[in-house]
Amino acid sequence: MTAPPSDIKARQSEGLLELVWDENSWTTRLPYTNLRAECPCAGCKDEWTGARILDPASIAPDIKISEMDLVGSYALKIAWTDGHSSGLFTWENLRKICEAAKAASTE
Ligand SMILES: [Zn+2]
Repeated sequence: MTAPPSDIKARQSEGLLELVWDENSWTTRLPYTNLRAECPCAGCKDEWTGARILDPASIAPDIKISEMDLVGSYALKIAWTDGHSSGLFTWENLRKICEAAKAASTE
């Protein structure tokens, strides 16, 4: 099981979610548009193939998080200002998104 991030901060004015991992050893700043595009719910991603159904171009560039809730100890539920709120981001999934962003930024 993936351990939860050490810290999560929604930076609304900058439009990004800051996640701190592994006892503050690394930080990822994920733009909301990227995170919204990775929404794992059945309406945004095909449950079987994992292929993205949501067109990233349809996401408003100024989208914000309207609400964040912890789900048990394993996931974060994010509601967006576009009215979408069915995405449950597990720590495992969030970590994968952060690791991909980290890899892309050091290339
Ligand atoms: Zn979704």
